[in-house]
Amino acid sequence: MLNRKQILKNSKLYSLRPYIVDDQGILRINSRINEAKFRSNEKNPIIVPKESKFAELIVKEKHLRLLHGGVTVTLSQIRRKYWIPQEGQPIRKIIIRCLAYKKYSVKPADQFSGQLPRDRILESPPFTVIGVDLTGPVYVKLGNEVEKSYIALFTCAVTIAVHIELVSGLSTRKFILALRHFLSRSSNFKTIYSDNASTLKCASKDIQYFFNIIKDEDVVKYNLP
Ligand SMILES: [Zn+2]
Repeated sequence: MLNRKQILKNSKLYSLRPYIVDDQGILRINSRINEAKFRSNEKNPIIVPKESKFAELIVKEKHLRLLHGGVTVTLSQIRRKYWIPQEGQPIRKIIIRCLAYKKYSVKPADQFSGQLPRDRILESPPFTVIGVDLTGPVYVKLGNEVEKSYIALFTCAVTIAVHIELVSGLSTRKFILALRHFLSRSSNFKTIYSDNASTLKCASKDIQYFFNIIKDEDVVKYNLP
């Protein structure tokens, strides 16, 4: 085997220039990097027939060790010790049969984006149409005490400008304080959108209540000069 002439030219092994390295008769590939500072397994990986059960076991083991790694990464790990000829992509064939790999590698279905709502595209000054949401709790240090607080995020639907307010609790009153603080800076607003978080729903009810009082005929008359 040390002599290539012993391998027929039409043999699949011919291009790998195989040779036997030790008395165990292991057939290894003769690479061009013998001078490199790699381990001998890396320089001369063991040739494994691609149709063999052993090749399949190697692929499965490496693939699992790499937490269901893809073809390229599995192949590169295998080649640190073994050389499985890749005609017909045998490694790929084994990996794509794995159900977990299929689940991770599947691409999401294409979907068309819907039309943007009017509020998002009509030209208007910043913060005319606002979206508001509260983040999860953040802990704010006040002197020696740490207070559980939240961040109210006001987003302009048209310009995507963002305004941030600290809310020191989830009560309606505290949220309305933050809202007042925000609205005192940007008085253009016409519409505010939010999700159904109870703080925001209660705040909406309270604001509606006071808004109705302001609109009440008696109050309007009373305010007239
Ligand atoms: Zn897998």
